[in-house]
Amino acid sequence: MADVKIEKVFKRYSNLEVMHGVGVDIDDGEFVVLVGPSGCGKSTLLRMIAGLEEISEGTIRIGGRIVNDVPPKDRDIAMVFQSYALYPHKTVFDNIGFPLKMAKRPQAEIKEKVHKAADILDLSKLLDRYPKQLSGGQRQRVAMGRAIVRDPQVFLFDEPLSNLDAKLRVTMRVEIKELHQRLKTTIVYVTHDQIEAMTMADKIVVMRDGRVEQIGAPLDLYDHPRNVFVAGFIGSPA
Ligand code: ADP
Ligand code: MG
Repeated sequence: MADVKIEKVFKRYSNLEVMHGVGVDIDDGEFVVLVGPSGCGKSTLLRMIAGLEEISEGTIRIGGRIVNDVPPKDRDIAMVFQSYALYPHKTVFDNIGFPLKMAKRPQAEIKEKVHKAADILDLSKLLDRYPKQLSGGQRQRVAMGRAIVRDPQVFLFDEPLSNLDAKLRVTMRVEIKELHQRLKTTIVYVTHDQIEAMTMADKIVVMRDGRVEQIGAPLDLYDHPRNVFVAGFIGSPA
């Protein structure tokens, strides 16, 4: 487990500055949800935490250690995307175990960890299947299995449910919350969905145009939005 401290982070693409001094403190084990309009920088921030995007200025600390120059594979982080690409010609077992295989872990360890992840995600009976033989929700769970199999300190989710239908979204919301309660890892979760933010977050970060507009517990933001913009996102009439 680990805390994540984001301090005065800027992001520039050549001349274009898209992030202007973002600061967010995420406690160990906290479930933090990032919301904000399309293009405000949610994915960019996640990708900087993961190390997939360079930080132009500022620092990100994970578990106290500055990670600006630490490559993604050494960050102890797992990321689940909106379009979770599973390998179509690999079984569920091999899809989940893939990161460990890439890390050249011994077969016995891979087997043990895949079975453990499958147990947590209720996939134990599906390990021999191929992705096309699974429902949307089962596929999403396999994608999560691939993330948890590495036992990361921090989970990053980028709109993981936005491709699923409304009913499945509700189910997966509950499952992700349960996963969090069980694993007690730090989670940073990006969503467009206000209900997801309100029901899942310990803390919500509202972003706008590359800045943090307001940070607070769901009910704090709901009851005391700083402005009409935040109110619009969190749903209380301003
Ligand atoms: P969000 O996830 O909140 O929709 P993004 O983080 O994807 O927003 O994008 C934030 C801003 O950075 C947007 O204005 C986007 O156009 C810009 N951006 C993202 N990636 C690049 C890139 N590779 N080159 C230039 N601009 C980019
Ligand atoms: Mg995005």
